[in-house]
Amino acid sequence: MRLSKMHLKTLREVPNEAEIASHVLLLRTGMIRKLVSGVYGFMPLGWRSVRKIEDIIRQEMDAAGGQEIHMSAVQPAELWQESGRWSAYGPELWRVKDRNGRDFCLGPTHEEIFTDIVRNDISSHRQLPMNLYQIQTKYRDEARPRFGLMRSREFIMKDAYSFDKDYEGLDESYRIMYEAYEKIFSRCGLTFRPVEADSGAIGGSNSHEFTALSEVGESEIAYCEKCSMAATTERAECKDDPASDEEMLPMEEVNTPETKTIEEVADFLKLDKKKTMKALLFVKYDNDGNENGYVAAFVRGDRELNMIKLVNALDIPEHAIEFADEEKMSKVTGCVGGFTGPVGLHDCIIVADSELVGARNLCAGACKENYHIKNVNYGRDFKADIVADLKVLKPGDPCPVCGAPVKHARGIEVGQVFKLGTKYSEPMKAFYKDENMKDHPIVMGCYGIGVTRTLAAVVEQHHDENGIIWPMSVAPYHVIITLVNPADETQAAVAEKIYEDLQKAGVEVLLDDRKERPGVKFKDADLLGIPVRITVGKGAAEGRVEYKLRRDAEKTEMSADAATAEAVKTVNEEK
Ligand code: ATP
Ligand code: MG
Repeated sequence: MRLSKMHLKTLREVPNEAEIASHVLLLRTGMIRKLVSGVYGFMPLGWRSVRKIEDIIRQEMDAAGGQEIHMSAVQPAELWQESGRWSAYGPELWRVKDRNGRDFCLGPTHEEIFTDIVRNDISSHRQLPMNLYQIQTKYRDEARPRFGLMRSREFIMKDAYSFDKDYEGLDESYRIMYEAYEKIFSRCGLTFRPVEADSGAIGGSNSHEFTALSEVGESEIAYCEKCSMAATTERAECKDDPASDEEMLPMEEVNTPETKTIEEVADFLKLDKKKTMKALLFVKYDNDGNENGYVAAFVRGDRELNMIKLVNALDIPEHAIEFADEEKMSKVTGCVGGFTGPVGLHDCIIVADSELVGARNLCAGACKENYHIKNVNYGRDFKADIVADLKVLKPGDPCPVCGAPVKHARGIEVGQVFKLGTKYSEPMKAFYKDENMKDHPIVMGCYGIGVTRTLAAVVEQHHDENGIIWPMSVAPYHVIITLVNPADETQAAVAEKIYEDLQKAGVEVLLDDRKERPGVKFKDADLLGIPVRITVGKGAAEGRVEYKLRRDAEKTEMSADAATAEAVKTVNEEK
């Protein structure tokens, strides 16, 4: 492709709305174009890289026994009502009506559609196992679309669904997908880590996220260097401190003026934060968005409440709960925030972290402004409706598996795999008949990859201050020939020859034949991040050109033929 003919508009300035490198660079290279918040289009170079990622995914999915199909993004509400998700999915579901007022959604994921296919098409155990996948546009009306392709409202996802006779079959299908994912993300040039994850709105029992390590990622993971424990902090189990053997002391109300935070209370009463109890109050909503009672959650003062563990304990979706404001708080507790405690609290669901059961003589709010109660004990002074692990596993906390101190890292969730079991096949009646003509629900798994988010993750891991540094496998082109002076016939002829020879060898090559200053061309070549650059300048008169890899600083002078041969070799080794 000749750059003089290509639709390319690079930007010198950093666009205002872009905060992270991948967003900045994808906009500056003109690879993506914003339409409205969270909705992007792809320009020629951007689309080529998207297709490269899709091709890698296709090859590995096909090799793993997947069969590609393509379903509509438009999904009828009835299927979602059958699974129960029409109401449970919440405001992220992009709902639309047709001209007759019939409800539809733009699919955020396709479990219902694929379950519907198999319940119609599969009747016998002989048709199982099966794996169907698609690469398709998804819609999620995200509360805060941000970071460009990382969290958009329209994005491309590969979603696959496995169908098995039993759980043993599911384990095998899951293992095959897990391994295919490792190959896919390695081939995309990502440094990543598979970690145990919560299964969120998709549901099911067992799940792993594939996390591309990056400081700007929105996923936080906890891992142990001593054993193989690795999980999202949403999911990671946090062990309780051992139960205390202290005697229970009598409760004592103490005046604690102006002490709203745990730090202030602990300071004022000269207590270790471990001897205090933290309260958080929430409003719960039903599926129609109406208020549906209150929840008070309690953890030890030095701990942090894990919201995902809380909603899982309550068995409600994440969007069905919200922090209570001061007015609502005083309605339940009869006092202002900061003085909420469990003693005498009623008219709300009390959820206590399991560690509180064995803790002794904690200081908690008295539900009375400017007062706390010392020596509060679970069982004697209060009870919870639900007791569960509600804690965030923090860096340095003991690993739930081996006890060594855990570490934290940040990353970008590029894919997630789920063991769904019969979560969809039971309510939607997707059954197969066994050898004895007996009906059983099909056992399912589902497997997603954010194709466009993966593109952003690759840029996030492969760039420097001058631009992108594409891994060969997902680079829009392999080689760029920078023709310094297109008006110089010798230079032009040498560049054309390399251009032709590379194309003949199957290399994807850009020829920068624009009538631009050399400085602009070099800057653009660095910005676009094409892995190999061959510069044809003054040396062309002596048959010499310059060969450089985007990732290296050195440039090497060589003959045009040698540069061509070197480029072909590098491309074939790395693509
Ligand atoms: P997140 O926790 O980041 O919101 P999710 O867990 O809801 O994502 P899944 O339902 O697991 O997402 O979807 C499969 C994959 O689709 C994710 O692993 C991610 O790579 C991608 N994805 C999800 N939401 C978005 C989005 N808003 N923009 C771009 N990619 C997304
Ligand atoms: Mg996910």
